Amino acid sequence: MPQVLGYAASEAGALLAPATLLRRELRSNDVAVRINYCGVCHSDLHQTRNDWHNTVFPCVPGHEIVGEVTDVGSAVTKFKPGELVAIGCLVDSCLKCPRCEKGMEQFCEEYPTPTYNGRDRLTGELTNGGYSETIVSREEFVLRLPEGLDPERAGPLLCAGITTWSPLRHWNAGPGKRVAIAGLGGLGHMAVKLAVALGANVTVITTSPAKVADAIALGAHEVLVSTDADAMAKAKNRFDILIDTIPVSHDVTPYLSLTALEGAMVIVGAIDMLPAIHTGSLLMGRKTLAGSIIGGIAETQELLDFCAAKGVLPDCETIAIQDINQAFERMERSDVKYRFVIDMSTLAD
Ligand SMILES: [Zn+2]
Ligand SMILES: [Zn+2]
Repeated sequence: MPQVLGYAASEAGALLAPATLLRRELRSNDVAVRINYCGVCHSDLHQTRNDWHNTVFPCVPGHEIVGEVTDVGSAVTKFKPGELVAIGCLVDSCLKCPRCEKGMEQFCEEYPTPTYNGRDRLTGELTNGGYSETIVSREEFVLRLPEGLDPERAGPLLCAGITTWSPLRHWNAGPGKRVAIAGLGGLGHMAVKLAVALGANVTVITTSPAKVADAIALGAHEVLVSTDADAMAKAKNRFDILIDTIPVSHDVTPYLSLTALEGAMVIVGAIDMLPAIHTGSLLMGRKTLAGSIIGGIAETQELLDFCAAKGVLPDCETIAIQDINQAFERMERSDVKYRFVIDMSTLAD
């Protein structure tokens, strides 16, 4: 099996450091990709620290991958060497359960195979992510990078982008709809750009008056500062769709009261337990409190194509792989606008 260079955490909380890892020999339905860029997601940090108590070490994170096809298996029909492609959070699923058949591989009844910290469905080998020179994935989970989409900035669409795109599309964000985005980090900033590009009227809800100018710069039509009781009262029952990207557990009741008659509030952060909510805040107005996580493969391709057509890209700061530990620290302090992307050519430095 080919040995390649990557960056790995050797144990929980260890700094990421250079490591060699194995990539499998191509199966007939596999695509081999040389990785050019990989976005840095909050889950990379959680996973390498074993915050979710399921990490297998050494752990090579990264699931916002953009690269170039270098080789394909004999049965591959959709890709050929030289093409630019992307790989997101999933590299496999059963592809035959009702959910997979509906294009919702992220909810596969047999659980999809994550791009890293997962187990290969055939061999049981640990999957390794995009903080590495190359990756091998079955064809069905490789996405086409459309022409006109900047490869250096496209990576974060594969996780932060699709996580917000999927609920915006499912609940029909578009002209005539009022959309609110709570939280303005990696996910929130993508949600704003996508909702604006879909034609919705977009309001950012933030605790921090310092973020007002940033929200407007991203295209938001209005900003609601959640510590301003008067403004919150005035915005009651206002939003058809409220995407909640706040990354820590919080009381959702104030946000439910902002949600419109028969509107939907959608939580997209994995934040474990929520404080108790009063059912009255759901009943009075037939409101929906929902959750959503990433998206299916066809839906992710739709997002990439939409972003290429509309010129929507994440705001990124490109770093060398040698700066990844510092980037993790800065990400924890929310000191990034709004997503780090690793230039993987720096692995060779
Ligand atoms: Zn992610
Ligand atoms: Zn399935």
